[in-house]
Amino acid sequence: MVSAEIIAIGSELLTPGFVDTNSSYLTGQLNALGITVVMKAIVGDDENYLENALRGCLSRTPILITIGGLGPTEDDVTKKVVARVLQRQLVLDDATLGRIESLFKSRGITMAPNNARQALILTGSEILVNHHGSAPGLWISTGKHHIALLPGPPSELKPMFEKYCAPRFQKLAGGVTLARRVWRTTGLGESSLDARIAPIYTKHKNVETTILAKPGQVEIRLTARGKNTEDAERQIRELAEEIEHSLEDFIFARAEQTLEEVVGLMLVLKNATISLAESCTGGMVAERLTGVPGSSRYFMSSVVCYSNESKMELAGIPPLLLSMQGAVSEEVARGLAEGIRERANTTVGVGITGVAGPDGGSEEKPVGTVHIAVAVPGETLHRRFSFPGDRHRVRWQASQAALNMVRQILMKM
Ligand code: ATP
Ligand code: MG
Repeated sequence: MVSAEIIAIGSELLTPGFVDTNSSYLTGQLNALGITVVMKAIVGDDENYLENALRGCLSRTPILITIGGLGPTEDDVTKKVVARVLQRQLVLDDATLGRIESLFKSRGITMAPNNARQALILTGSEILVNHHGSAPGLWISTGKHHIALLPGPPSELKPMFEKYCAPRFQKLAGGVTLARRVWRTTGLGESSLDARIAPIYTKHKNVETTILAKPGQVEIRLTARGKNTEDAERQIRELAEEIEHSLEDFIFARAEQTLEEVVGLMLVLKNATISLAESCTGGMVAERLTGVPGSSRYFMSSVVCYSNESKMELAGIPPLLLSMQGAVSEEVARGLAEGIRERANTTVGVGITGVAGPDGGSEEKPVGTVHIAVAVPGETLHRRFSFPGDRHRVRWQASQAALNMVRQILMKM
């Protein structure tokens, strides 16, 4: 396996809250080409630290990608330091300078003299034209190394990588082909899921299995490497079938789709419509469903009925039911689902009521208790859940469970 390292450069990347999305993107792209990322580093705009990071990387790994620091300002030091480490010169490239000048002209701004720095290139490097910004990238192949210097803005880095770097890396990876599978599941926690499939995947050591858990969702990925597609597929097939079989109903997607996208697709296929009456989720399910393009085909209406009064007024819950069973109960969840379905005149009605916390729990109905009901013609499905975690996690898991119940009921229709 060919290995690579990534260095993301920029002091802003070391501030709290800034997420280095570029290196995650690059890792995905490289993996798809059969190249493993063995180390990633983030370095501030500091010549010494950068020089150290570069030297370390070049002492052990044949491929290096740097991100950022190609701009026109004094703190953009990437090319200068790479030139020092590789003992090359920086020279002005006329064609690049011309391109930058005309870019500024076309935007109607005069170019600051500083911007000419972006036309400096390392001797013996190849220029990666930036079609979405001013700073070009550089590709440098030495006897031992292949180095790509890419710009920081994701809108510039991605197209540059895809157009100029991916084909070069593919050649370097030397015809390794990958076969992949991905499943997204819900309704089974990470450890119970792993207990089911670990006996299966541990038998297949040549296939890489990764499990990624988030609240209310566990994703399983398989990657096999082969001499060609057939070879890679052959390695993955048996394991994939066994995993598929052992997780059955918990699988909601066989691609990187969200649960709301899958539910939306199923509503379209069944020619069905949906309405919601949400209490503790406060409209979260509605927000998720309407976030999917094209949702106006099936999404009719949603009410957030937080107070008892609104549960009566907007979903027709009888006052007596509320006082006898309490707002967080099976009867009220069913009433919300059936009531909103009738009022909105939809195929599916969903009712959600629960205790999101941190206050409001009782011995009988502790924080995390959520009742969800899904009504369709002739049937109302109900489930009671006890979700762990804080308010946000409880609400998120409730939205996930509600969407999953809709998915399950639609599958039977
Ligand atoms: P520019 O000519 O725009 O200055 P540059 O190559 O010098 O390009 P930087 O100045 O390092 O790039 O970064 C520009 C912007 O790109 C950053 O402010 C940030 O918004 C984004 N960026 C940089 N690095 C990353 C990263 N690793 N992940 C996500 N975004 C990044
Ligand atoms: Mg910059």
